[in-house]
Amino acid sequence: MEKITKEVFLSYLNRLHPDASCALIYKNDYELLISIILSAQTTDIKVNEVTSILFEKYPDFLSLSKASISDIENIIHKLGLYHAKAKNIISCADKISNEYNGKTPNNFDLLSTLSGVGRKTANVFLSEYYNMNTLGVDTHIMRVAKRLQIAEDGDNSYGTEKKLKAFFQETDYRKLHHMIIAFGRNECNARKPLCASCEIKQYCKYGHDL
Ligand code: SF4
Repeated sequence: MEKITKEVFLSYLNRLHPDASCALIYKNDYELLISIILSAQTTDIKVNEVTSILFEKYPDFLSLSKASISDIENIIHKLGLYHAKAKNIISCADKISNEYNGKTPNNFDLLSTLSGVGRKTANVFLSEYYNMNTLGVDTHIMRVAKRLQIAEDGDNSYGTEKKLKAFFQETDYRKLHHMIIAFGRNECNARKPLCASCEIKQYCKYGHDL
């Protein structure tokens, strides 16, 4: 099967989702980082609903670091994994307040030491807040990359990230992150992808025979 090129994929994404961008609502580094941590395995819409209450009551890392777990759990309970998320965001806020003067570090290795912050969260934060050319890989991006044979079935998210970074140009990473997620949510979704109308199906091992 023919392999897709970066030019073909990028041009298709640009036609489908030229305005794809971050759907999380935030005003500063605090709100963005906490929102990304809370967004694991839930929707951005639900996160925005919850954070409108959370950030009103706890407007910065310092106030969040002093919150009780039970109050945070009450506020965020509609999100999945809320026990772990409540614990993580309080601990993360505590470390940033005490060790980084209340400002989120702009460094991947430092970010990765914070509770609740893995590779994806650190990359998404650095790309969105500090405009760094990096690419956070979530479940949509991983699925699309594998279907289009840019990554292989056995690749984990780090393996997929490395292959995507090698495939595309660095200057395109930030926009690609949002466009591939939009494609994965709207057209190439997990259960019922719209393969019949997909214009890149000749490169896709999943939709090729449909
Ligand atoms: S053919 Fe289907 S599975 Fe393949 S990229 Fe297109 S929408 Fe996704």
